[in-house]
Amino acid sequence: MKTIETDVVVIGGGATGSGTLRDLALRGIKGVLIEKHDIAYGTTGRNHGLLHSGARYAVKDKHSARECISENRILRNIAGHCIEETGGLFVSLPDDDPQYHEELIKGCAEAGIDFKEISVNEALNIEPNLNPEIRRAMTVPDGTVDPFRLAASNVVDAAERGAQVLNHTQVTSLILGQDGVTGVKCYDKKKKEEIEVHAKLVINATGVWGQQICDFASIPINYFPSKGSMVIIDYRINNIVINRSRKPADGDIFVPGDTVSLIGTTSRNLTYDRIEELTVDDDEIEVLLSDGEQLIPNVSNTRVLRAYCGVRPLISLSPDVDGRDISRGIVLVDHEERDGVKGLLTIAGGKLMTYRLMAEQTVDLACVKLGVDKKCTTHLVPLPGSEKKVSDEENIRNYPGISESVVSATYFRHGERIHSILNRDKRSYGLICECEMVTAGEVEYALKNLFAKDITDLRRRTRVGMGPCQGELCAYRAAGLMAELGNAEGVEAADILREFLEERFKGTKPILWGDALREFEFTYWVYQSLLGLSE
Ligand SMILES: Cc1cc2nc3c(=O)[nH]c(=O)nc-3n(C[C@H](O)[C@H](O)[C@H](O)COP(=O)(O)OP(=O)(O)OC[C@H]3O[C@@H](n4cnc5c(N)ncnc54)[C@H](O)[C@@H]3O)c2cc1C
Repeated sequence: MKTIETDVVVIGGGATGSGTLRDLALRGIKGVLIEKHDIAYGTTGRNHGLLHSGARYAVKDKHSARECISENRILRNIAGHCIEETGGLFVSLPDDDPQYHEELIKGCAEAGIDFKEISVNEALNIEPNLNPEIRRAMTVPDGTVDPFRLAASNVVDAAERGAQVLNHTQVTSLILGQDGVTGVKCYDKKKKEEIEVHAKLVINATGVWGQQICDFASIPINYFPSKGSMVIIDYRINNIVINRSRKPADGDIFVPGDTVSLIGTTSRNLTYDRIEELTVDDDEIEVLLSDGEQLIPNVSNTRVLRAYCGVRPLISLSPDVDGRDISRGIVLVDHEERDGVKGLLTIAGGKLMTYRLMAEQTVDLACVKLGVDKKCTTHLVPLPGSEKKVSDEENIRNYPGISESVVSATYFRHGERIHSILNRDKRSYGLICECEMVTAGEVEYALKNLFAKDITDLRRRTRVGMGPCQGELCAYRAAGLMAELGNAEGVEAADILREFLEERFKGTKPILWGDALREFEFTYWVYQSLLGLSE
């Protein structure tokens, strides 16, 4: 069996695990990240991508609101290429309790969130698609964050500083010695290989799956999964984040992202045995569209591209199993202190927004355990790609002869790393995905440098297949390129293609009507009838 020796194993390649790996690397601690699917496969890749200003928590949870605004300012500096500074609006509709808006203003002031009350006309000027019936409006420093880019940039930075990354590798048990946890056993699903990783410390950053990891050491801990569903519409119906000024409820937020907009979200409690189901119910789609229409009436004229859901990793440390003391904040558990099991920490809860802070708190505790005296610097050191901001004009000047939209899209997704993507032969400028302007060079870069191993991974790194056609015209080109570059044998490339299309179908199946159904039929003809791809 293959064995690896390291200082710290981080289980889980979501934002929390990726950020933790990077923090360890920046403090000079050797780390190995183990992720059973792909980076950002879990809840990190299944949320709104809202860069919270904190205003959504300002009425009920001031502590979270303060954490959010503080991290919001840090992330703008260190993760610029993953963030769009869209700004945000809170608007109240005639049916909304006017008192809530007053409390929101007071809460934002107390939490130190820069807000500004604006007139209805000003709000409609900023966002012409808004319901003209709105009564009040205020701006807040919300933004959007691409969770795939954010997690991948953390992993890439850690790897460039010496960390090891094992994606598509599942932890199957903890290695338990007399002195507690001394490592993990895992299985590399692509290479079909068992691996043992020995370490001084294991960090469980597996989000909602954390309970399963604790089970390996017979540690009792209760997770209370809460599912949230969202729908994506086929263009940016809004350019600024729009929140409804009322108590958190279904269908109260519109978030623009890249070429599309999404409407969120629902909240449904799940029993723990259903965390893998990840299906969006018909009534959730109905409520999102009908409540969404109240904020932006034009939603009725858009096409829904897909629906998806994520599971909030809510956790309770009390032995009670009724979930009364569930925490919505950051939960860091030292299992030596709580359960008498040395060598294991669990980090869960929090938000995408607070991933860096969660990592900092975890690595601070890891340093105490390992006897390392190094301070956190993740709030100061930019992520790869975010070292400096370059204007579109300058980028276009730097790459004469390449389509402006290719240059802008590549810079938008990879920031300063654009130099590693567009500085090569002309052939690499050929488009693989027209919806998202993804080039052959970008796909090759992701395969070689960003730990992408199949087309679904490529989607997370480059947005291949995420635009209006949902992979119809780009998936076979990406599969062909993988075969050409030696990343998949011929038959394997066909399997990878089939898996990708099945994965995409999960999100389109719940919304198959009208134009979406017509587009799907076309995809079916291309792949089944023309290319002969069958089950
Ligand atoms: C509907 C919804 C909307 C949200 N919107 C926002 C938002 O707009 N802004 C925001 O800041 N936050 C938002 N959140 C919260 C945020 O998404 C999560 O708090 C955050 O992404 C959790 O990240 P994580 O890394 O802790 O967990 P995850 O992203 O779930 O990562 C855990 C990883 O562990 C891996 N794993 C599990 N078991 C194993 C194993 N045995 N071996 C190896 N790997 C394993 C999984 O595959 C997974 O990739 C939202 C959450 C939901 C549900």
